[in-house]
Amino acid sequence: MCSSPPRGGTAQLSPLVEFAPLVAQLDTMRSQGRRIRMWWRDDDSYRDTTELRRLLMARRNIPIALAVIPGLLDETLTNLIHDSNRVSVLQHGWKHIDWSGGKSRPSEFPDSRSTFEVSEQLRSGRELLEKTFGSRFDPVLVPPWHSISRWLLENFGDLGYLAVSNEAPLFPLLSRGWGSREINIEIDTSDWTRQGAFIGSREVARRLLRAFELRQKWNSESFPIGILTHHAVLTPSDCDSLGSFICMLEEVGCVEWLSVKGMLDGEL
Ligand SMILES: [Zn+2]
Repeated sequence: MCSSPPRGGTAQLSPLVEFAPLVAQLDTMRSQGRRIRMWWRDDDSYRDTTELRRLLMARRNIPIALAVIPGLLDETLTNLIHDSNRVSVLQHGWKHIDWSGGKSRPSEFPDSRSTFEVSEQLRSGRELLEKTFGSRFDPVLVPPWHSISRWLLENFGDLGYLAVSNEAPLFPLLSRGWGSREINIEIDTSDWTRQGAFIGSREVARRLLRAFELRQKWNSESFPIGILTHHAVLTPSDCDSLGSFICMLEEVGCVEWLSVKGMLDGEL
Protein backbone atom coordinates (compact mmCIF):
# COMPACT_ATOMS: atom_id res chain seq x y z
CA MET A 1 0.00 0.00 0.00
CA CYS A 2 2.99 2.27 0.38
CA SER A 3 4.61 1.82 -3.00
CA SER A 4 3.46 4.97 -4.82
CA PRO A 5 6.43 7.33 -5.25
CA PRO A 6 6.12 10.92 -4.05
CA ARG A 7 5.56 13.57 -6.73
CA GLY A 8 7.86 16.13 -5.14
CA GLY A 9 10.60 17.58 -7.31
CA THR A 10 13.45 17.30 -4.82
CA ALA A 11 15.93 14.47 -4.78
CA GLN A 12 14.17 11.52 -3.20
CA LEU A 13 15.66 9.08 -0.78
CA SER A 14 14.23 5.81 0.35
CA PRO A 15 12.07 6.53 3.43
CA LEU A 16 14.20 4.09 5.40
CA VAL A 17 17.29 6.19 4.57
CA GLU A 18 15.61 9.58 4.88
CA PHE A 19 14.34 8.85 8.38
CA ALA A 20 17.29 6.68 9.43
CA PRO A 21 17.64 7.79 13.10
CA LEU A 22 13.94 7.25 13.76
CA VAL A 23 13.93 3.96 11.86
CA ALA A 24 16.89 2.74 13.93
CA GLN A 25 15.02 3.63 17.13
CA LEU A 26 11.86 1.90 15.95
CA ASP A 27 13.85 -1.21 14.96
CA THR A 28 15.37 -1.35 18.43
CA MET A 29 11.97 -0.93 20.04
CA ARG A 30 10.41 -3.63 17.90
CA SER A 31 13.18 -6.09 18.76
CA GLN A 32 12.48 -5.38 22.44
CA GLY A 33 8.71 -5.76 22.05
CA ARG A 34 8.07 -2.08 22.80
CA ARG A 35 5.87 0.34 20.91
CA ILE A 36 5.17 4.00 20.35
CA ARG A 37 1.63 5.39 20.69
CA MET A 38 0.40 8.25 18.58
CA TRP A 39 -2.73 10.16 17.67
CA TRP A 40 -3.51 12.67 14.92
CA ARG A 41 -5.57 15.88 14.96
CA ASP A 42 -6.30 18.07 11.94
CA ASP A 43 -7.77 21.54 12.47
CA ASP A 44 -10.15 23.99 10.80
CA SER A 45 -12.61 21.76 8.94
CA TYR A 46 -16.04 23.09 8.06
CA ARG A 47 -16.59 22.08 4.44
CA ASP A 48 -15.44 19.53 1.87
CA THR A 49 -12.28 20.79 0.13
CA THR A 50 -9.63 19.36 -2.17
CA GLU A 51 -7.04 19.94 0.54
CA LEU A 52 -9.00 17.99 3.14
CA ARG A 53 -9.62 15.09 0.75
CA ARG A 54 -5.93 15.03 -0.08
CA LEU A 55 -4.99 14.77 3.59
CA LEU A 56 -7.54 12.02 4.24
CA MET A 57 -5.97 10.08 1.37
CA ALA A 58 -2.44 10.66 2.65
CA ARG A 59 -3.25 9.34 6.14
CA ARG A 60 -4.51 6.11 4.54
CA ASN A 61 -6.56 4.31 7.15
CA ILE A 62 -5.02 5.76 10.28
CA PRO A 63 -7.55 7.22 12.72
CA ILE A 64 -7.75 10.98 12.53
CA ALA A 65 -9.71 13.51 14.59
CA LEU A 66 -10.98 16.55 12.70
CA ALA A 67 -11.42 19.71 14.78
CA VAL A 68 -14.58 21.05 13.15
CA ILE A 69 -15.79 24.68 13.39
CA PRO A 70 -19.50 24.20 14.18
CA GLY A 71 -20.64 27.76 13.52
CA LEU A 72 -19.42 27.53 9.91
CA LEU A 73 -20.43 23.91 9.24
CA ASP A 74 -21.39 23.13 5.66
CA GLU A 75 -23.28 19.97 4.76
CA THR A 76 -20.58 19.00 2.25
CA LEU A 77 -18.33 18.22 5.22
CA THR A 78 -21.05 16.10 6.78
CA ASN A 79 -21.23 13.96 3.66
CA LEU A 80 -17.46 13.63 3.37
CA ILE A 81 -17.05 12.53 6.98
CA HIS A 82 -19.89 10.04 6.81
CA ASP A 83 -18.20 8.51 3.75
CA SER A 84 -14.77 8.26 5.41
CA ASN A 85 -13.42 5.51 7.63
CA ARG A 86 -11.91 6.14 11.03
CA VAL A 87 -12.62 9.86 11.03
CA SER A 88 -13.92 11.41 14.23
CA VAL A 89 -15.02 14.95 15.04
CA LEU A 90 -13.97 17.31 17.83
CA GLN A 91 -15.36 20.79 18.48
CA HIS A 92 -13.14 23.66 17.33
CA GLY A 93 -14.69 26.56 19.24
CA TRP A 94 -17.79 28.14 17.76
CA LYS A 95 -16.98 30.31 14.70
CA HIS A 96 -13.19 30.66 15.05
CA ILE A 97 -13.51 34.41 15.59
CA ASP A 98 -10.76 36.39 17.26
CA TRP A 99 -12.20 38.30 20.26
CA SER A 100 -8.84 39.41 21.65
CA GLY A 101 -9.20 42.90 20.18
CA GLY A 102 -5.61 42.66 19.01
CA LYS A 103 -4.39 43.18 22.56
CA SER A 104 -2.88 39.74 22.91
CA ARG A 105 -2.58 36.51 20.97
CA PRO A 106 -5.73 35.69 18.97
CA SER A 107 -8.41 34.00 21.02
CA GLU A 108 -12.06 33.09 20.64
CA PHE A 109 -12.30 32.71 24.40
CA PRO A 110 -10.33 35.49 26.10
CA ASP A 111 -10.92 36.24 29.78
CA SER A 112 -12.75 39.44 28.77
CA ARG A 113 -15.76 37.63 27.27
CA SER A 114 -19.02 37.02 29.07
CA THR A 115 -19.07 33.51 30.47
CA PHE A 116 -22.79 33.27 29.67
CA GLU A 117 -22.24 34.14 26.02
CA VAL A 118 -19.30 31.74 25.72
CA SER A 119 -21.32 28.96 27.36
CA GLU A 120 -24.27 29.50 25.02
CA GLN A 121 -22.15 29.52 21.87
CA LEU A 122 -20.28 26.41 22.91
CA ARG A 123 -23.53 24.65 23.78
CA SER A 124 -24.99 25.51 20.36
CA GLY A 125 -21.88 24.18 18.67
CA ARG A 126 -21.73 20.99 20.70
CA GLU A 127 -25.40 20.20 20.13
CA LEU A 128 -25.04 20.80 16.39
CA LEU A 129 -22.04 18.47 16.13
CA GLU A 130 -23.76 15.81 18.25
CA LYS A 131 -26.86 15.98 16.07
CA THR A 132 -24.91 15.99 12.82
CA PHE A 133 -22.21 13.43 13.50
CA GLY A 134 -23.70 11.20 16.20
CA SER A 135 -21.21 8.70 17.58
CA ARG A 136 -18.43 10.12 15.41
CA PHE A 137 -18.43 13.21 17.60
CA ASP A 138 -16.27 13.09 20.69
CA PRO A 139 -17.08 15.87 23.19
CA VAL A 140 -13.60 17.35 23.23
CA LEU A 141 -13.09 21.10 23.03
CA VAL A 142 -10.26 22.32 20.79
CA PRO A 143 -9.86 26.06 21.46
CA PRO A 144 -8.89 28.02 18.31
CA TRP A 145 -5.29 29.28 18.41
CA HIS A 146 -4.85 27.04 21.47
CA SER A 147 -6.06 29.95 23.54
CA ILE A 148 -8.55 29.44 26.34
CA SER A 149 -9.54 31.48 29.35
CA ARG A 150 -8.77 30.23 32.81
CA TRP A 151 -12.51 30.08 33.54
CA LEU A 152 -13.18 27.83 30.56
CA LEU A 153 -10.24 25.58 31.33
CA GLU A 154 -11.59 25.09 34.84
CA ASN A 155 -15.22 24.59 33.79
CA PHE A 156 -15.22 22.72 30.47
CA GLY A 157 -16.49 19.58 32.21
CA ASP A 158 -19.61 21.40 33.40
CA LEU A 159 -20.24 22.50 29.80
CA GLY A 160 -20.42 18.89 28.63
CA TYR A 161 -16.88 18.19 27.46
CA LEU A 162 -14.86 15.16 28.49
CA ALA A 163 -11.54 16.77 27.61
CA VAL A 164 -9.76 19.76 26.13
CA SER A 165 -7.23 19.40 23.34
CA ASN A 166 -4.57 22.04 23.47
CA GLU A 167 -0.94 22.34 22.50
CA ALA A 168 1.78 21.28 24.88
CA PRO A 169 5.56 21.25 24.74
CA LEU A 170 7.31 17.99 23.96
CA PHE A 171 6.64 15.59 26.79
CA PRO A 172 3.64 17.32 28.39
CA LEU A 173 3.78 15.35 31.63
CA LEU A 174 6.33 17.85 32.83
CA SER A 175 3.89 20.74 32.68
CA ARG A 176 0.38 19.32 32.42
CA GLY A 177 -1.19 16.09 33.47
CA TRP A 178 -3.33 13.55 31.73
CA GLY A 179 -5.41 13.57 34.89
CA SER A 180 -6.58 17.08 34.04
CA ARG A 181 -8.33 15.63 30.98
CA GLU A 182 -6.20 17.31 28.41
CA ILE A 183 -5.52 15.42 25.19
CA ASN A 184 -2.80 17.61 23.84
CA ILE A 185 -0.79 17.68 20.67
CA GLU A 186 2.95 18.07 20.88
CA ILE A 187 4.11 18.13 17.26
CA ASP A 188 2.61 20.90 15.15
CA THR A 189 3.56 20.21 11.53
CA SER A 190 3.12 23.89 10.59
CA ASP A 191 5.65 26.68 10.99
CA TRP A 192 3.52 29.71 11.94
CA THR A 193 6.42 32.09 11.41
CA ARG A 194 6.09 31.11 7.71
CA GLN A 195 2.29 31.29 7.25
CA GLY A 196 1.89 27.75 8.49
CA ALA A 197 4.24 26.17 5.95
CA PHE A 198 4.87 22.44 6.46
CA ILE A 199 7.97 21.83 8.58
CA GLY A 200 8.85 18.76 6.50
CA SER A 201 8.67 15.09 7.33
CA ARG A 202 12.29 14.92 8.39
CA GLU A 203 11.61 17.55 11.05
CA VAL A 204 8.45 15.68 12.10
CA ALA A 205 10.61 12.56 12.45
CA ARG A 206 13.19 14.45 14.49
CA ARG A 207 10.56 15.79 16.89
CA LEU A 208 8.91 12.40 17.16
CA LEU A 209 12.21 10.81 18.09
CA ARG A 210 12.81 13.52 20.68
CA ALA A 211 9.32 13.12 22.16
CA PHE A 212 9.84 9.40 22.47
CA GLU A 213 13.30 9.75 24.01
CA LEU A 214 11.78 12.00 26.69
CA ARG A 215 9.15 9.38 27.43
CA GLN A 216 11.81 6.71 27.77
CA LYS A 217 13.78 8.92 30.11
CA TRP A 218 10.74 9.45 32.32
CA ASN A 219 9.47 5.89 32.01
CA SER A 220 6.22 6.98 30.33
CA GLU A 221 6.38 5.30 26.94
CA SER A 222 2.66 4.59 26.84
CA PHE A 223 1.76 8.29 26.92
CA PRO A 224 0.56 9.02 23.36
CA ILE A 225 2.27 11.59 21.15
CA GLY A 226 -0.15 13.93 19.38
CA ILE A 227 0.52 15.26 15.88
CA LEU A 228 -1.30 18.29 14.47
CA THR A 229 -1.88 19.21 10.83
CA HIS A 230 -3.80 22.02 9.16
CA HIS A 231 -4.97 20.54 5.87
CA ALA A 232 -5.61 23.96 4.28
CA VAL A 233 -1.92 24.85 4.26
CA LEU A 234 -0.58 21.50 3.04
CA THR A 235 0.44 21.39 -0.61
CA PRO A 236 0.14 18.21 -2.72
CA SER A 237 3.87 17.67 -2.23
CA ASP A 238 3.52 18.10 1.56
CA CYS A 239 0.78 15.47 1.60
CA ASP A 240 2.93 13.11 -0.45
CA SER A 241 5.75 13.60 2.00
CA LEU A 242 3.46 13.00 4.98
CA GLY A 243 2.04 9.94 3.25
CA SER A 244 5.53 8.49 2.77
CA PHE A 245 6.30 9.18 6.40
CA ILE A 246 3.15 7.39 7.54
CA CYS A 247 4.01 4.47 5.30
CA MET A 248 7.48 4.27 6.77
CA LEU A 249 5.99 4.13 10.28
CA GLU A 250 3.56 1.44 9.21
CA GLU A 251 6.21 -0.66 7.48
CA VAL A 252 8.77 -0.45 10.25
CA GLY A 253 6.03 -1.35 12.73
CA CYS A 254 5.63 -0.91 16.48
CA VAL A 255 3.57 2.27 16.12
CA GLU A 256 0.07 2.12 17.57
CA TRP A 257 -2.34 4.82 16.37
CA LEU A 258 -5.03 5.69 18.90
CA SER A 259 -8.44 7.19 18.29
CA VAL A 260 -9.69 9.95 20.57
CA LYS A 261 -12.55 7.71 21.62
CA GLY A 262 -10.03 5.05 22.57
CA MET A 263 -8.08 7.51 24.66
CA LEU A 264 -11.23 8.77 26.37
CA ASP A 265 -12.27 5.19 27.07
CA GLY A 266 -9.02 4.56 28.84
CA GLU A 267 -6.77 2.87 26.30
CA LEU A 268 -3.90 4.69 27.96
ZN1 LIG B 1 -8.09 26.73 14.14
